[in-house]
Amino acid sequence: SMPVVAIVGRPNVGKSTLFNRIAGQRIAIVEDKPGITRDRIYSRSDWSGRAFHLIDTGGLEFNKKDEVVEHIRHQAELAIEEADVILFVVDGKEGVTATDEEVGRLLHRSNKPVVLAVNKLDHIKHEDHVYDFYRLGFEEPIAISSLHGSGTGDLLDAVIRCF
Ligand code: GDP
Ligand code: MG
Repeated sequence: SMPVVAIVGRPNVGKSTLFNRIAGQRIAIVEDKPGITRDRIYSRSDWSGRAFHLIDTGGLEFNKKDEVVEHIRHQAELAIEEADVILFVVDGKEGVTATDEEVGRLLHRSNKPVVLAVNKLDHIKHEDHVYDFYRLGFEEPIAISSLHGSGTGDLLDAVIRCF
């Protein structure tokens, strides 16, 4: 069956923007406010002749008690379970946050292959921000801009190498 790639990360890092760029359509809702994607959104995509299912999820948040956040988090956890490969998205302009570290721990525990995308690096002069993210403990973080599309080819090459 077709491999499943789940996009996960904390709210507002650009998961839905990346999902739409890979899907080639505006399916997911992109919002400045975090937490808009409450359920799992699916698309069929392909890269270099390899077809896969892509899932967008709401952002993983921790230490929040309200029901909506719990629901979003549950959806992300289901997506992680379903996934063959996890596309972990972080915000390269903000640097590593405590929530990124929490999400990273969850992903290490999942024992699934993880490809780390350092998003919002819109200008080449910001690309050295990727080095900070090595401390999350995954293989080579990949600098991307979901807004402009730079780096997404390298990212998808890394994803399909995991199948
Ligand atoms: P999500 O909550 O992780 O799904 O994030 P969204 O895709 O909804 O994006 C949150 C905000 O970040 C929106 O204002 C996007 O336009 C912005 N954004 C997403 N990707 C990029 C990027 O590569 N560069 C910049 N500068 N902004 C981005
Ligand atoms: Mg979203």
